[in-house]
Formats: sequence, structure tokens, C-alpha cells
Amino acid sequence: MTDPKPQAAKVDDALWYARGLRFSCTHCNQCCTGPPGYVWVKREEIIRIADFLSLSVRDFADQHCRRVWWRVSLKERPNGDCVFLTPRGCRIYPVRPTQCNTFPFWEQNLRDRECWEALKRRCPGIGRGKLYTRDEIERMAAGEGST
Ligand code: SF4
Repeated sequence: MTDPKPQAAKVDDALWYARGLRFSCTHCNQCCTGPPGYVWVKREEIIRIADFLSLSVRDFADQHCRRVWWRVSLKERPNGDCVFLTPRGCRIYPVRPTQCNTFPFWEQNLRDRECWEALKRRCPGIGRGKLYTRDEIERMAAGEGST
């Protein structure tokens, strides 16, 4: 008796990104600029970034954070740039918030192929380089993992 013929792994083709998505950051920093918005940070992220900058948590919060209802966001410059964007790139890149290191795999960008394709205008890393699997994509959309 032989093993049954192996079957190709089943992929849920109904989900538009079931076969994965390509993305490799070009470090153009366009996602760190633009219209005003929020970069949400949780307590553990605040502690990590403060430590990286050799600041106390209180000083870091006073200098770089703003409270928005019950949440905390990084401050931004009047033109919408992130306060940590420098001419040489992100000043806190190794400890950047989850919101930054899971971009562009955010739920609102994954709604459908049109949303993803439209984002190419602002993010040249989309559609090139590393192929992310559905599992990786969904972990990042849930706020885990990193790009
Ligand atoms: S816009 Fe895209 S390619 Fe440019 S820095 Fe952000 S993630 Fe990277």
C-alpha cells in the first residue's frame, strides 16, 4: 500500500491576500510624514522608547507624548511629521512603536485589493521584495510581529 497522493495545500482564495503580499521598506519615510494623525503608544512601548533615549518615563511623556481621550499618541510637528523623523531617518527606529513596525499591514489597508493598491502611491515598498504569508500578515494586522 502506498501513501495517498499528496494534495496541494488548500488556500482560501476567497481572501484576496490568501497567497501573500510583497513588501520591502525602501526607508523613504513618507509614512512618517503627511496629514495630522496619531501614532498610538502603549505603556510598555513608552518605557522602551524612554529607555532608548535615556529619558525618564515622565520626561519622555512630557516631551514627546500627548493624551487623546484614554489613549496616548506621540506628538507630531505642525506639518504632521513625526517628532522622531530626522533627515537621517527615524531616531527611534530600533524601538519604534508597533503601529510603525507593522505598517503597511494595517486592517484598514487590507480591506480589499483596491485599498492596498491605492496605498502604493504613498508607499513605494508595497508590491516589491519579501513575500509575507497570510499568517504573517494577519499577525501584524492584529498588532503582533514586525515588518
Ligand atoms: S512609506 Fe513605505 S517604503 Fe517608505 S518608509 Fe514608509 S513603509 Fe517604508
